[in-house]
Amino acid sequence: MQTLRSNCFRLISCAWPESVTERGKERYGFIDIIMTHGVHSAGMLRHGLPPPSSTSLASFRSNLESLARTREVISLSTAVAILEEGRRPMRRYGVLTFDDSLACTCRVAIPEVLRVGIPATVFVSTDILDTGEPYWWLRLDHAWRQARTEQASFFGPKGEVVVIRRDDPASMARAKDHLRAMRANQRDHEVGQVEEAFGARLSNPDVNYPYAEAMTWADVRELAAKEIEIGSHTVTHPNLELLTRDEVIQELGDSKRRIELKLGLPCRSFCYPYGKHSPDVTDLVRAAGYKCATSTIAPGRNFAGQDAFLLQRYSITTEPYKLGYDLSGFSRMLKYCGWRSEVHTCLRGHRAK
Ligand SMILES: [Zn+2]
Repeated sequence: MQTLRSNCFRLISCAWPESVTERGKERYGFIDIIMTHGVHSAGMLRHGLPPPSSTSLASFRSNLESLARTREVISLSTAVAILEEGRRPMRRYGVLTFDDSLACTCRVAIPEVLRVGIPATVFVSTDILDTGEPYWWLRLDHAWRQARTEQASFFGPKGEVVVIRRDDPASMARAKDHLRAMRANQRDHEVGQVEEAFGARLSNPDVNYPYAEAMTWADVRELAAKEIEIGSHTVTHPNLELLTRDEVIQELGDSKRRIELKLGLPCRSFCYPYGKHSPDVTDLVRAAGYKCATSTIAPGRNFAGQDAFLLQRYSITTEPYKLGYDLSGFSRMLKYCGWRSEVHTCLRGHRAK
């Protein structure tokens, strides 16, 4: 019994050292940045099923409470200040972010954030705020959800035929990958073809498909007044890897200036659309005067020394923090067990000789 207990303790201290000693806590501090897209209330469901990127209010609430319970939630600018000073994060910090400036973010999600009393950052695309036009992937989700035909097709970036089937979510995910690799004009044309083929065009999102409704500048001003940080998500939400250098500079500079002009506040943070970036793009973000940039690819946590222009994030619905403890300990535990079994195998081999 004694041996069992001491072996358990050894395993736990190896897998979750921070839970065993205060010193371990200092050594294993980190910043988890949480990424959220749409959040939908039960009332919105009467307009049809939500897009796959949207989180239900119930799920958002429970994940938010879990975040506040298991992390010290700080603002993105505080997190960047910690990393910039070269300080080691001494605790488990959490940062909450929202992408895409959707109306449901300020109507459904932010009231919950204010109720819990934690800071947050909202990344806005200025063209979407100016025009109120829905994002192309939400037009696509709407057409797919309301489809009157079995399938629709369009031409991909290399002229290949891409088929979306009404009963096959994987075909929809593949179609979005193709469309993300296309420049805006061609992409929007192909999305129009899909809407036509499915017989469902998104015309009035606030009535027919509230998931796609965009925020207004008045909404953004209201958020800023409640001390929600506003960051840039470019002007038109393009795949920055497909643009020329001048076009990237324009997307970065114009969105920053427009936000600052509309709010009278500095815009310091940036979010790469689709998480797409290259070393050149990252350098241009730095040169445009931003203090940090977040990605969506390669989810993970940020430790001391993390580049502030390559901040990693976790999706609010899928990552370990929501369980209230650090699942990465399992990999350390497996490594430890693997190492032990290798030693035993080796010893057994020696004995056999
Ligand atoms: Zn986005």
